[in-house]
Amino acid sequence: MAGFLEKIKSFFTMPAEDSSTRFITFTVKCKRCGEEIKVKVRKDSDLSRVFEDEGPQGAEYFLRKEILGEKCNNLIYIDVYFGPGLNVISREVKGGEFAD
Ligand SMILES: [Zn+2]
Repeated sequence: MAGFLEKIKSFFTMPAEDSSTRFITFTVKCKRCGEEIKVKVRKDSDLSRVFEDEGPQGAEYFLRKEILGEKCNNLIYIDVYFGPGLNVISREVKGGEFAD
């Protein structure tokens, strides 16, 4: 009986998937005007799978994104490689810099 109650409890306390688990966020700073822009990346649709011999050692996912701020028309590009568990292995930015 105790096991049954435990099951019910764990069912009700199961964390709902919130935005922090579905998104990866980066902050980039525009090289031209200094604006800091928050970038939200959807784990399930924005990342592409890295194939063998692509990217740095151990890379599993890749993200390329164009970012446009609100204060000027300077385009910022980011290239990010992720390993298993979506930890960042390497990242590059053009037109700005990472601010996080
Ligand atoms: Zn700017």
